[in-house]
Amino acid sequence: MINSVLEERKSSISDKRESGISCERESVSGAVSQRACVYCGARVVLNPITDAYHIVHGPIGCASYTWDIRGSLTSGAETFRNSFSTDLRETDIVFGGMKKLTAAIDELMETVKPSPKLIFVFATCIVGVIGDDVDAVCRTAERKYGIRVIPVKAPGFSGTKSLGYRLACEAIMNLILPHAHQPKRFGVNILGDFNLAGEMWIIKGYLEQIGIPVISTITGDSSYKTLIQAPSAMLNIVQCAGSSAYLAERMETEFGIPSVRVSFFGIEDTTNSLLRVADMFGKPELSERARKFSAERTARILPIINQYKPHLEGKRAAIFVGGGFKAISLIRQFNELGMEAVVVGTQTGKKDEYEVINSLVNSGTVVLDDANPAELETFMKEKKADILVGGVKERPLAYKLGMAFCDHNHERKHPLAGFEGIENFVKEIHKSINSPVWKYVKEGAA
Ligand code: SF4
Repeated sequence: MINSVLEERKSSISDKRESGISCERESVSGAVSQRACVYCGARVVLNPITDAYHIVHGPIGCASYTWDIRGSLTSGAETFRNSFSTDLRETDIVFGGMKKLTAAIDELMETVKPSPKLIFVFATCIVGVIGDDVDAVCRTAERKYGIRVIPVKAPGFSGTKSLGYRLACEAIMNLILPHAHQPKRFGVNILGDFNLAGEMWIIKGYLEQIGIPVISTITGDSSYKTLIQAPSAMLNIVQCAGSSAYLAERMETEFGIPSVRVSFFGIEDTTNSLLRVADMFGKPELSERARKFSAERTARILPIINQYKPHLEGKRAAIFVGGGFKAISLIRQFNELGMEAVVVGTQTGKKDEYEVINSLVNSGTVVLDDANPAELETFMKEKKADILVGGVKERPLAYKLGMAFCDHNHERKHPLAGFEGIENFVKEIHKSINSPVWKYVKEGAA
């Protein structure tokens, strides 16, 4: 099947449903993976904390590459929209960068008003090589200023993007552990939602209408004050499991908070998630309200889906997204539209997620872990995909192939989660797939 694929990559690609694929491992050297680095993984999880200061201790390129790459919205501070860097140069690499890091923290504390309460210090590749004692600088700054200065030691070479997620979870635990001893109260934390285009607000609104208060959101539209209340919640609901499952495990161990995995993409997953969360409290009235709410919203959205479905039935979709949970929801969402997922890939999917993916797709669908553009191109052409759903790095690939595209990643400007998101999604898929422009592209290429 795969003449154009590197030998070492073949075990991470499958079109036979019975065979599992190799995943959760480092990218193959030379394969030009679509994955970002460890530091990027950590930063995208922590960045939406609205009043946090993120100092990138490394060359300016690391800061620039990850500056404001999420469409996370805020109802409070705009601090997270800024990027700070120690801008390490050659002499810093020779003589060490700790003085520069200390000076950067001092400068922030002297110039910013009101004074920062929370600073994350990201140590990137070169700091991992020269061995600056970032922990010591952060500890000293915490003592000097009486604020939280949390190190995130994430050199890009130390693993995969998944390690970055884990480091971000450790940093959040570092922040909230001192607040462990709070009385429990009725309510949930939402983990792994980054409030892209306001999606957190949509989900929070649903839960509140059902009668379930949201105590802390991690990390979309969060702040120092709301994050430290997280230990008081009775339940964690975990949306992006890839980035936040580890945090949920740690919070269960340290604070006794159980968790439930959810996804709010598509009718089936949104409905099941709301019911599952409500059922977790063992209160029949909550479960009943969740059922009623989902039924009402489904009844409102179905006529819209039915309006677009005839234009989409039989079309073929390629999916390449960050985590497995989203790929699974997208396969179901395409099924709801009468479409078929013919290529499904993720950057950081896990073994159990690929098993679910394999159980949902037809035999012959190509499933890939940690793909590169050449592989995506090969299989999208081979499987005659009509549309690619991916992120900013996949968009040019689709357009160069004269293929429709739907952005389902960090930067999108409209929500795709919840019932509002279902409407946006179906309209976007229709507009993109059925745009007259593809006819002209194909004619031009002929
Ligand atoms: S941490 Fe390393 S791999 Fe990541 S952007 Fe910086 S230099 Fe590149």
